[in-house]
Amino acid sequence: MKKLWLFSWVLFTLFIQMQCAGQSAPDIASVESAAAAFGESAAAAGVSLASAAQRTTFAVVPDTVRPGDPFAVAVTAPAGVRSRWTAQLFGTAGNRIGQAVFFDLREESSNGPVWAALMAVPSTAAPGRAMVRIIGENGAVLGEPAVVIESREFRTENLPLTNTMSDILTVPDPQKTLESRRLAEILNHTGSEVFCTGGFVMPVVSQVQTSRFGNRRVYRYPDGRTSSSIHAGIDWRAPEGTPITVCAPGRVVFAGPRIVTGNTVIIEHMPGVYSLCYHLSRIDLAEGRMVTSGESLGLAGSTGFSTASHLHWEVRVAGENTDPEAFLGRTILDKDAIMSKLNE
Ligand SMILES: [Zn+2]
Repeated sequence: MKKLWLFSWVLFTLFIQMQCAGQSAPDIASVESAAAAFGESAAAAGVSLASAAQRTTFAVVPDTVRPGDPFAVAVTAPAGVRSRWTAQLFGTAGNRIGQAVFFDLREESSNGPVWAALMAVPSTAAPGRAMVRIIGENGAVLGEPAVVIESREFRTENLPLTNTMSDILTVPDPQKTLESRRLAEILNHTGSEVFCTGGFVMPVVSQVQTSRFGNRRVYRYPDGRTSSSIHAGIDWRAPEGTPITVCAPGRVVFAGPRIVTGNTVIIEHMPGVYSLCYHLSRIDLAEGRMVTSGESLGLAGSTGFSTASHLHWEVRVAGENTDPEAFLGRTILDKDAIMSKLNE
C-alpha cells in the first residue's frame, strides 16, 4: 500500500513538472534538484531518482536594497530538510557578508511549500551587483539570485569619552564577556514564529536623532588614544523618564541590566529579527511576555555606556545591524510580493 502511494506521488510530481516545464520567469531562476528524501522510495517504486527531480524556484524581495536595509529570500522545493537550508549574501567583491537560516513561511506556491529567510545588507557593503547563494542539503547550491546594492553615505562622528565610559569599553571583565556571548546567542537564533511582518511604530516620541544608524564613530579616550566603531542603531533624544513603548508585536527574549548597554529589552518579532532598547532607567516588561505595538516597555535613561539620557533603538536581522527606520510603517516579510514573484 505504501509503495503504491509513493508510486502515485512520483507520477503526480512528474505530471506537475511537465505542466511547469514550459514556463519561463526572468526574475525567478529555476534549477532542478533531486528529491533526496524520496530518492530511496522512488527507486523502490521503479522510477529513477533523476526523473523524480523537483523544480526549485526562488525570489529575493526587494531585489534592490541600500546598505542597512533588510530583505527576504524565498525558496520553494517539494522535498528535503528545509529547516537546515541557508541563504548566504556575497558582496560585490565575492566575499561573504551575511548568512540567514530558512523558516517555514506556511504558504503554498504552485511549486510546493514556501520557505523564507530574512537578511540585511551590512552598512559597510559596497554598492553594485551582489548575490544570494541558496544552500540546501549537504551544501548543495540550489540557486544564486542577484541583489543590487545601492550606494549610501554615512556620517562621521567624534565621541570624546569620559573616564567611566572609557573603562566600560576597555577594562576586561568576565561578566562583560559572558553578557556579550549571551547577546550573540540570542541575536543569532532564528526561531520559527512570525509575530508580525513589519510595520513597526516609533518606540519613543522624539524628533531628534542625536546619532544616526551607521554613523562612523571615532572614540577619543581621555589618554589621547582613539578607536573606531559603527553605530548599530539610532539614538533618539529622550529626557530621563520619557515613556518607551513596544515598536511591534513579538515576544520579550531579554529584559535586564547589562554592563555596556545598561537596562536592556530585546523583543523577537520575526524569525531572526529582534528590536533592542538600551540605557533605560526602568524596565516594564518581563522575559517571555508576548507584547503588542505601543505597549509600555519602560522609561528612557542613561544606564551603561551613555553620555546623557536617550533611547538607543536597534534592529537586528540574522545577527546583522539594520536601519530601524527601514521597518517603520513598511512590510518587511511581504508575503504577497514573495508569492507573486514565486508564481510568475
Ligand atoms: Zn546608540
